[in-house]
Amino acid sequence: MLCRKLERVAYFFLDGTLDAKQKRIFSKHLKLCPECEQRTTIHRRIRIFLKKRLARLVAPARLKQRLTRSLRAFAD
Ligand SMILES: [Zn+2]
Repeated sequence: MLCRKLERVAYFFLDGTLDAKQKRIFSKHLKLCPECEQRTTIHRRIRIFLKKRLARLVAPARLKQRLTRSLRAFAD
């Protein structure tokens, strides 16, 4: 039961957006549960891999201009 609950917040844990209490519960559970520990490690590695890959991608200038215009229009 706790495993399923924690699986749902794993991304928040990896993002560092859990509050202190949730983070403590999550960290404690990882030390006791090999399955959750392994799953979280896999998620962490995927995130690192994607971050490195995406860091190399550069949006074309026209796309950047269109997005900037859209965001400005949305903010107004
Ligand atoms: Zn677990």
